[in-house]
Amino acid sequence: MSDATVCLTYDFDAVSVWIHTFEVGNAPTQLSRGVYGAWVGAPRLLDLHDRHGIPATWFVPGHTIESFPERVGEVHDRGYDIQCHGWRHVNPSTFDSKEDEKAEYERAMTNIEDITGSPPVGFRSPAWEFSTHTLDILDELGFEWDSSQMGNDFRPYYLRKNWSAPQDKPYEIGEKSDIVEVPISWKRADFPALMFVWEQSILWGFADERSVFDLWRAQFDWMYEHVENGIFTLAMHPQVIGQPPRTTRLEELIGHMRAKPGVEFADVSTVAAEVRSGDREPMAMLGD
Ligand SMILES: [Zn+2]
Repeated sequence: MSDATVCLTYDFDAVSVWIHTFEVGNAPTQLSRGVYGAWVGAPRLLDLHDRHGIPATWFVPGHTIESFPERVGEVHDRGYDIQCHGWRHVNPSTFDSKEDEKAEYERAMTNIEDITGSPPVGFRSPAWEFSTHTLDILDELGFEWDSSQMGNDFRPYYLRKNWSAPQDKPYEIGEKSDIVEVPISWKRADFPALMFVWEQSILWGFADERSVFDLWRAQFDWMYEHVENGIFTLAMHPQVIGQPPRTTRLEELIGHMRAKPGVEFADVSTVAAEVRSGDREPMAMLGD
């Protein structure tokens, strides 16, 4: 077991995030930003990973697979892990029923199986949020792990089922499920800091670029020093991180991480499988 593991992940939203999350409708310039992710950002990142021989997990909505099948096929053909990111890029809490939510993930699973030959076992919610049904649905559909939640920073843990959060009673954390969580953070993500979205805020997406990479480096260094066998999960988007000179900054960050002894790069599926097999210790949560 290495001293630290780095999981580089890409949410390959392409145009789905503009259609389904920001609801820009038929706005060709907005939609073209997603096309850029498929045409320009994705191949640039695949080349970067090929150059360094570093694995990655790509979370791909079914909408992206049906819109850009050749590009998603290329991600698989070049050896990278592809997992589920819903079909439309919507918040799970917006589904009318559990059946509707489940049917959408089943459609997305079929898309991935058509590309990879096997159904996905990992999930990242399009909105990084669950509905009250999502965990049960993942369990019913055979998913083994998730990477959407934030109950830890650098340690995996098992998600909780049957939790409750009433307004006028204490929070009940629920019971341990069989789904492994490999947590993420808005502070280890590129979209809020680096992607300007007119509909959200005039200030969104105009962070100083170097400071974003400095923050990621500082978080990694802290984990390396303080957390035994920590997992550093970085969540990025081809249409955001694929813009120059960010790919160069990313390569510099990779070089910084690689220079430390005992650091390995892994896809999230590998890490989650190690937790499930007992090779990697999950974080013990309250009540375990
Ligand atoms: Zn997404």
